[in-house]
Amino acid sequence: MMTQTTPTTAAPVVPMGTMRAAVVTEFGAPLQISQIDVPTPGCGEALVKVEASGVCHTDLHAAHGDWPVKPHLPFVPGHEGCGTVVAVGDGVVDLNVGDKVGNAWLWSACGRCEYCRTGRETLCEKQINGGYTVNGSFATYMLVNADYAPRIPQLADPLEVAPVLCAGVTVYKGLKVADARPGQWMAISGIGGLGHIAVQYARAMGLRVVAVDVDDAKLTLATRLGAEVVVNAATHDVVGQVQEATGGVHGVLVTAVHPQAFGQAIGLARRGATIVFLGLPPGDFPAPVFGIVIEGLTIRGSIVGTRQDMAEALDFYARGLIRPTVSTTRLEDINNVFDRMEHGQIEGRIVIDYR
Ligand code: NAD
Ligand code: ZN
Ligand code: ZN
Repeated sequence: MMTQTTPTTAAPVVPMGTMRAAVVTEFGAPLQISQIDVPTPGCGEALVKVEASGVCHTDLHAAHGDWPVKPHLPFVPGHEGCGTVVAVGDGVVDLNVGDKVGNAWLWSACGRCEYCRTGRETLCEKQINGGYTVNGSFATYMLVNADYAPRIPQLADPLEVAPVLCAGVTVYKGLKVADARPGQWMAISGIGGLGHIAVQYARAMGLRVVAVDVDDAKLTLATRLGAEVVVNAATHDVVGQVQEATGGVHGVLVTAVHPQAFGQAIGLARRGATIVFLGLPPGDFPAPVFGIVIEGLTIRGSIVGTRQDMAEALDFYARGLIRPTVSTTRLEDINNVFDRMEHGQIEGRIVIDYR
């Protein structure tokens, strides 16, 4: 017989009060470091004391209002946050005070629609996005949805595991849907926060890696992480060099933040390849209809990952198969981090350390 779990309604251990947060008050303006109210966990939610949060390029797009559906102002970005549960709301059955969790971009989904029912919850039209439609991890406390919050592996270093919560799961899922087999070539275009972790997942899956970026420092990092071929797209004939070195790659992940990389990615492919778009720069690009048809190419988008993808992506980290390259900063320095991100000056991921 199954034992009934009693819903926990632990009294909040965090008194009502205020917390430090980086707030977007106007698109394109610097974030304001201010004191705002600590949120109260509602039904099915938990309050988390944030220990670390990665800074994703999506946070920069959000703060700039780059995309057609914009967040309501003011809001707190951040969707690579992890920390410790300090209070749970009504109806939370499997999360307790003291548990380690993260927030993530897929903060929650409806659980009832066609997409949710068919294992494609990242496409749910009623999804709520961390640091976009609900306040995120650029604050000392954040709310999570108990059913959707990623469970952080025991012994994980909060600073290192934080980037897995968006960058990691996104590239892991991207590689899955690229459908390449061990021994085949995978090109990663854009070796930033996402791309440098993509090199590591690709290697862990037995793929051979081509790295493309417009900055030599990123390519040096890619080589260190196991890329066999690296090409600077700003200074070299990237299509010619990749075709010559590999005969055309079996798959491409585009994580770059410039639309030019998207059209270019098609030229790197061999016949029958799948090209997965992950980067989200505003804009579009020209695509050769004839080549795509004749070469039987698949071009597809992919957005973060499901809860199951997340558990698998975190498991790669827990087993030591991937290890994000991180440097740390303080919340107060967020505008400087965004500035460096805009100019492509970050190696790996910058993570805010709240401890
Ligand atoms: P990042 O700033 O850390 O890295 C971007 C990289 O792109 C940099 O290394 C930069 O040098 C490189 N780059 C710029 N122009 C290029 C070009 N023409 N060719 C090749 N490389 C070029 O950003 P990030 O955090 O890795 O995010 C990358 C993009 O992915 C953003 O647009 C972000 O919003 C998006 N994103 C998408 C998902 C998803 O689920 N699909 C998830 C997270 C982030
Ligand atoms: Zn992200
Ligand atoms: Zn749904």
